[in-house]
Amino acid sequence: MSSIGELTYEVFINAPPRQDNGDLPNGEPRLFSPLASTLIYGVEDAVLVDPGFTTDQARALGDWVAGKNRKLTDIFITHGHGDHWFNANLLAQRFGARVVATEGTIGQMHANVAARPFVWDKVYPGIPRSPVTAVTVPDNRFTLEGRDLVIVEVGHADTEASSVLHVPDLGLIVAGDVIYNGAYLYLSEASLAGLDHWRQGIDLVESLGARVIVAGHQNAILDAAAARTIAETREYLDVAEELFRTQKSAVDYFNAMVERYPDRLGRTVLWATAQAVYGIRDNPGQDPVQFIAGGWL
Ligand SMILES: [Zn+2]
Repeated sequence: MSSIGELTYEVFINAPPRQDNGDLPNGEPRLFSPLASTLIYGVEDAVLVDPGFTTDQARALGDWVAGKNRKLTDIFITHGHGDHWFNANLLAQRFGARVVATEGTIGQMHANVAARPFVWDKVYPGIPRSPVTAVTVPDNRFTLEGRDLVIVEVGHADTEASSVLHVPDLGLIVAGDVIYNGAYLYLSEASLAGLDHWRQGIDLVESLGARVIVAGHQNAILDAAAARTIAETREYLDVAEELFRTQKSAVDYFNAMVERYPDRLGRTVLWATAQAVYGIRDNPGQDPVQFIAGGWL
């Protein structure tokens, strides 16, 4: 728990669900990455960021939020990937909260709902109904007990139209998937867009000067130091780019990254990335979307 002035934040790490469609190339079960939900709160009110995507997570997270005895006014969604928000409507109804996102993220949320039958629902049972109920806020700002919460749009990070939530009073950035912390990065979409877009997003996050960064995917044993998480995310992009050049196949890339980063969590995400990047590379002229989706299957 960290508090400065009247605002406080706490992070809830949602247990990663297991996929039931076979094992990873090294024989491990397919386990998703742990997902961080952040509660920022004052004396009476609270704002929740990225509420997860299965009904099990919604129940556990919702009970944790209820235990804080604050009125949940808003649920903010950093980007359109379903793992960060398919629970938004369920928790918004439980607490009578508004769901907030940027216009770009709302577009990506619709795209993720459309992709549910082809990807999400194929590998994860227990995702609730997920209508897109998010609204934008004027000038990308809203408040919590009079304190500014500033939405900063960073463009393409691990998906299009990513954003972070800056809480100047806490020196805090809730970074969604722009910054990772001890988990494998999802590069399937970014490798198409070019990793430099993501690097520019990291530069923008760094320019905000926050002290702490809550990464959307993280290992709970690690701290949230902004400087370290930024440096490690940059380094991972460089290492991945180098290994994409030198490794001949998806399995080679997977094994090389496991060897380079043995302690990072979420190897299912690493394998999804490997299959997408090498599938696209080995099948020029075919629709890349089938390989990005197929990486999870
Ligand atoms: Zn994510």
